[in-house]
Amino acid sequence: MSLQQTLRRGWCPGALTPMQTGDGWLIRVRPRAGRYSMAQLEAIAAAAQDCGNGQIDLTNRSNLQIRGLSDASMLQAQTIIADAGLIDDDPAHEALRNIIVSPLSGLDPDARDVRQLAADLEVALARTTTLTALPGKFGFAIDGGGAGRLPSGVADIVLRVSKDGTSIGLAGAPSVAAVVEPDKAIAAMLRLAHVFLDLVTARTNLRRMRDAIATFDAARFFKLAGLQAIPSVAPSCKPSKLLIGPIGPQDNAFALGIGLPFGRITAPDLCSIVDSAVACGVTETRLALGRSLVFPIVQNSVARLSAAAVKCGMIVDSTDPRLTMDVCPGAPACDRGTTDTRADATRIADALRAWEGDRPSIHISGCAKGCASNSAAAFTFVARDGVYDLMLDGRVNDTPTKTGLSSDALAAELYAIAGASNG
Ligand code: SF4
Repeated sequence: MSLQQTLRRGWCPGALTPMQTGDGWLIRVRPRAGRYSMAQLEAIAAAAQDCGNGQIDLTNRSNLQIRGLSDASMLQAQTIIADAGLIDDDPAHEALRNIIVSPLSGLDPDARDVRQLAADLEVALARTTTLTALPGKFGFAIDGGGAGRLPSGVADIVLRVSKDGTSIGLAGAPSVAAVVEPDKAIAAMLRLAHVFLDLVTARTNLRRMRDAIATFDAARFFKLAGLQAIPSVAPSCKPSKLLIGPIGPQDNAFALGIGLPFGRITAPDLCSIVDSAVACGVTETRLALGRSLVFPIVQNSVARLSAAAVKCGMIVDSTDPRLTMDVCPGAPACDRGTTDTRADATRIADALRAWEGDRPSIHISGCAKGCASNSAAAFTFVARDGVYDLMLDGRVNDTPTKTGLSSDALAAELYAIAGASNG
């Protein structure tokens, strides 16, 4: 199959399965085992600048996306990405390579090094011929714990490695897990994926593990995969801490987390940060939840790399109000959006800088699809016909408390509801 033949409007895009959006075609560039080399980041920036509109997204599932591609520029972009080693030969395997890896492996002394396991899982998925029917969003995670530990439910099948042993958990079943031998863990993950496929065949409403667990008991999954379920205490649903700013001992950070405001960076800004990182001796970046890039630090280069990131408008301060906000691309980037969600979010973030105490979680969505988050937020604003509905402590499809809010009214509404103490 040629690259051109693979072009189609896709529900879950990839590098070989572009998705049409309001600002042109979009391709998702999945990292290798949760990492991009500096050369790969440069290739992504080059493809975005030369073939797209220069805008790059970091998704909430830790992939970079290039936006604004045209029919004419698509093949060139894919060739640049393929030459960087970021495309599989087969679109079906490309779509299968959904792997989230805890980002501090080999850096954080409190974390287990799971890099080899992640690489092994990639190879195993590339070799399988029987899992390509998995739903597009079905994913795997490998967690080594430490400051970058992954929350429960981060992926359909989660492998956890800790000083207490190696275990596998399933989304939707946080209280059970199966203990496995480390060298048999990848095979066990694949068996569980096969069990999912076997059980959900002919049930098209079951697209994710949590749906299947609600229908079939988790213990049955493990048993059919030849594993035994035991009680388990999985980490809470949110990561314990966003990886933003220096990470590690105060005077001896081993990594720097750089947050992308609302998950967006331009190609020139990405190039600028990569140039600084390379000059500091950095060779790769890790993808972290919370839309941040984690750069391993060498040669005490925290201050230099932080300064380069701030100069590009990126986030290295873990108290930045933009970090408590989930915001989708909205209009005009997405043709389903009816408001400029990022401009509205920036106005709210500016207003929130004067907020006293813990800031509320905020989700701003360009339509009821809610691409940026499926979690409940203290304030969820959902655009409809150019104005917003507001849900309190809810999700995009909950019943709104207020409707018809204009963009200019959002920050005032937030302060009014949260009380005079923050006025
Ligand atoms: S939530 Fe709606 S407007 Fe926002 S990116 Fe998704 S489909 Fe587009």
